Amino acid sequence: MGRHDVEAFRPAALEAVEWIADYLANSRRYRVTADMKPGDLIDRLPAQGPEEGEPLAQLLADFESQIMPAMGHWNHPRFFNYFSSTGSVPGVLAEMLAAALNSNGLNWVASPAVVELEQVALGWLRQWSGLPDDYFGQIFDTASISTLHALAAAREMADPDSRRLGLTKRLRVYCSDQAHSSVDKAAIAVGIGLDNLVKIPSDGEFRMDAEKLAERIAADVTAGYTPCCIVASLGTTSTTSVDPLSALVEIAAEHNIWVHIDAAYAGAALLLPEFQHMIRGAERAHSYVVNPHKWLFVPLDCSAFYTRFPEILRRAFSITPEYLRTSEDPRAVNLMDYGVPLGRRFRALKVWFVFRYFGRQGLIAELRRHIELAQSFRRMVEADGRFEVAAPAPFSTVCFRKRGSAAENRWIAAEINRSGDFFISQTILRGEFTLRVAVGNLATTQEDMESLWERIIGLSEQAPAHCGG
Ligand code: PLP
Repeated sequence: MGRHDVEAFRPAALEAVEWIADYLANSRRYRVTADMKPGDLIDRLPAQGPEEGEPLAQLLADFESQIMPAMGHWNHPRFFNYFSSTGSVPGVLAEMLAAALNSNGLNWVASPAVVELEQVALGWLRQWSGLPDDYFGQIFDTASISTLHALAAAREMADPDSRRLGLTKRLRVYCSDQAHSSVDKAAIAVGIGLDNLVKIPSDGEFRMDAEKLAERIAADVTAGYTPCCIVASLGTTSTTSVDPLSALVEIAAEHNIWVHIDAAYAGAALLLPEFQHMIRGAERAHSYVVNPHKWLFVPLDCSAFYTRFPEILRRAFSITPEYLRTSEDPRAVNLMDYGVPLGRRFRALKVWFVFRYFGRQGLIAELRRHIELAQSFRRMVEADGRFEVAAPAPFSTVCFRKRGSAAENRWIAAEINRSGDFFISQTILRGEFTLRVAVGNLATTQEDMESLWERIIGLSEQAPAHCGG
């Protein structure tokens, strides 16, 4: 039998499933943030791996006693940092099954279901999002990797010799000053370089200023640069502002520039008809990313990347050594040809489980509930003259601050997060320190929002004394 002891798995797995169910029902009994210093867990665990194998029961016991106290709980209803998310019941179930199958869909023949279910699940998401039918989808781990592929495809379109020779033109990429740092990393990774990533100023509502973009592109063309890609953010990280896509695709069309839409978080809101206006212009854009692991209740990791030009992506990346050669059947899609990764885990299963479990209407209902929770929080802030809302809040994320010093606001954020009762975020907007609350967990209630607000008010009354005010 050796260590592949399936009979030992049964009782351990049943215990683990009970533990998971209890955790998902009661995650609020934990602190949201870990109460520890950096290095504490490393110091507690053995520096050398075990010589002999250990029983599964011991591993589960140590998971509970050693690992759990060091966890940051993203599945906690009072987690309001970053973009709050949920590993939902159907998603957790699918992850267990996918781990058991251990299938690698590197090409069609290696595991047809991994490849075909990805096309089916992303086809549903494309339709629900109102994206045109010619958007071809595949799943990566993160939006950073999806955007990296967008820039690589843009480079291929603008500089087709670059695959062989490296860059042969002076390429330029454009995004707003609010775009996510993954665009910067993509520019580094594809060899375009940070000095050729132009940050276009945003307007009073943190949206890219299309006129300034047009002026900058014209100036760059005159100076001998080749404009290669515009990254439009639909839902920026700090304020969830939405760039004017229709105006951007218009400008791009004049110069044959690739347009990539980063909707990592707010793409989920496209399921709601009232947000469909954001995507106007997508029929003339080139690629799109949304992360179902952010606000569509699919467990980490899952980033849906779409492009209308899969052949350009293929030109950029396709390499087939003999050991990977397979059927020429056009329906046998080999996703390894459309990007950097060869291995492809069965992420599509959790997407399919989550979409079927909720249905489109179920997802819409939860998204609307989150938006309403955030809007109720925004109204609480607005109603208190000591505070101000710092940016429009079109979705489920609210930026605000106490009217006072940065030090006071910084202290409030630090105290809240130190308590372990809530976890909120912070950002800088137009030079001003800002608090930020993002709603996105299925278990979050109105009572959670009210308790958070009460805590903020309580701390704000103590803040001046602590900050020398
Ligand atoms: N784009 C936006 C707008 C984001 O907010 C984020 C992360 O929050 C990313 C990209 C990067 O996401 P990932 O962690 O999946 O790379």
